[in-house]
Amino acid sequence: MTRVDSELILPAAKQTEGHYNPVIVDVDDEPKREERPVEEVLESARNAFKSGKTRPLKFRTEQLKALERFLVECEDEIGKALYEDLRKHRQEMTMGELVLLMHDLRHTLFELPRWIKPASPERRLINLLDGVHVYNDPYGVVLIMGAWNYPFMLLLGPLIGAIAGGNCVILKPSELAPQSAKVIAKHIPRYLDKACFHVVTGGVDETTELLKNRFDYIFFTGSTNVGKIVHQAAAKFLTPTTLELGGKSPVYLDDSVDMMKATRRILWGKCFNAGQTCISPDYLLCSKETEEKFLACARQIVTQFYGEDVKVTPHLSKILTERHYNRLMAFIQSSNAAIGGAGDPRERIISPTVLTGVKAEDSVMQEEIFGPILPIITVNSAQEAVDFINKREKPLALYVFSKRKNVQDLFLNGTSSGAVTINDTIMHILTEGLPFGGVGSSGMGSYHGKQGFDTFTHKKSVLVRGIGMIGEVSVMVRYPPYSNFKANLLSFALKKRRGISFRVVKTLLVFGLGVGFAYGLQYLCKKGEE
Ligand code: NAD
Repeated sequence: MTRVDSELILPAAKQTEGHYNPVIVDVDDEPKREERPVEEVLESARNAFKSGKTRPLKFRTEQLKALERFLVECEDEIGKALYEDLRKHRQEMTMGELVLLMHDLRHTLFELPRWIKPASPERRLINLLDGVHVYNDPYGVVLIMGAWNYPFMLLLGPLIGAIAGGNCVILKPSELAPQSAKVIAKHIPRYLDKACFHVVTGGVDETTELLKNRFDYIFFTGSTNVGKIVHQAAAKFLTPTTLELGGKSPVYLDDSVDMMKATRRILWGKCFNAGQTCISPDYLLCSKETEEKFLACARQIVTQFYGEDVKVTPHLSKILTERHYNRLMAFIQSSNAAIGGAGDPRERIISPTVLTGVKAEDSVMQEEIFGPILPIITVNSAQEAVDFINKREKPLALYVFSKRKNVQDLFLNGTSSGAVTINDTIMHILTEGLPFGGVGSSGMGSYHGKQGFDTFTHKKSVLVRGIGMIGEVSVMVRYPPYSNFKANLLSFALKKRRGISFRVVKTLLVFGLGVGFAYGLQYLCKKGEE
């Protein structure tokens, strides 16, 4: 356990049920909603950015530390909001929201002084006397839109990268997790700089209005369909965009792995946040024989995880709304539930469900499931599974359970997805150093750690040339009148060479000059003595 984790442990009294008392923010404590028109909010952010206050390392560090304080000091309120919105267990809140954010914050705070410095790429002969730099330039005013399933992590995660990059930010929490949106709207202006960071709440209409404006960067998390709308709106101003979208993330399972362990890992991934996770394993591909073994293990594991009656378990989140619940129950009703299949419409709880006999053309295979339902599609070989995946849109995540290196390689080299995890589910999102993002219809761009900083900074090329006598002599060759001699000299100077580092050449040059100077001085002294 890291220091970050231990700081998140709550006093015992709060932990008794693993849940928070579902009393939410007092009415009197209603957040001050952004009353001003969006244009005014944007203007204020734009002016703050133009003032240059977001650029110094000190300001960025202070804001990141303030965000960290918000997460620590308001953990109770965050927990209550997540309980109200999704009935999230404290352990899922810790793992799915806070640990990730705290880790990213700490990592960014430690590394930012290094990241912020301009990079100095290797120089060619022709640039030997020049300054060659890549500046990490903030974009300006950034719009970040989050989804409801991890209302804090999906909004504040990108915010870390945006602050680190030196931007001003308009945050738009999802209207479908209203209590979480309230906590964000209430506290972000309290903890962060009011001129630079704003929260705009609302639903589809407000988002549509927001998107009519010009931003310097848009970071959107949500469905592929809305991602297309956002991308179209961004295209009007050629605004660079990161789209963190969804889709169907497949799992392939063969008989080379310990079936109990593999099933536990698959079902944990499927049922985390009741399957309402963008990288939740969506469907399972395996042979008929493996399916039988998987089902036998799955029956035991569901009971181990949630007991006999999932309605009373505090360990399973609820389904967001009645509409989402009905959509999921329709999948179950049109298929054969080998495990589970029950639902409680009042509590909006659906028991972990495994569907068998599923065909590619069934409704459950036409869209992202986003619930605790796992359809199994039987295949005769790993290659058939690869072909099945490749006939569909590129997934956000792909999970392969096999000890066989050739099977692992078949999926790694034969498919395209945002990420691949071998022999586990979901865990790549918690792994430091791995960028998080999709490809094709599961998204574009990525974030987390250094990748978040890079996403929110434009890599500005900077060349600094001397304009003195030596500088001018070194570039004279490019000017007309042209000649073959000049052309050959230029191609020699511009030619890319392997293995010669011009840093070494420069050092040797300086060393040579030093030696020459010493010999020259010695010679002159001797002459003087004569
Ligand atoms: P969504 O796309 O329905 O909504 C996202 C936000 O977009 C909403 O809060 C709403 O304000 C806005 N919106 C909705 N319809 C709109 C419209 N017609 N015009 C303009 N704005 C509109 O997504 P969701 O239901 O909040 O989240 C679920 C989806 O998000 C799933 O597909 C899931 O896979 C994906 N997701 C992806 C990631 C990721 O990191 N890749 C993470 C979480 C969720």
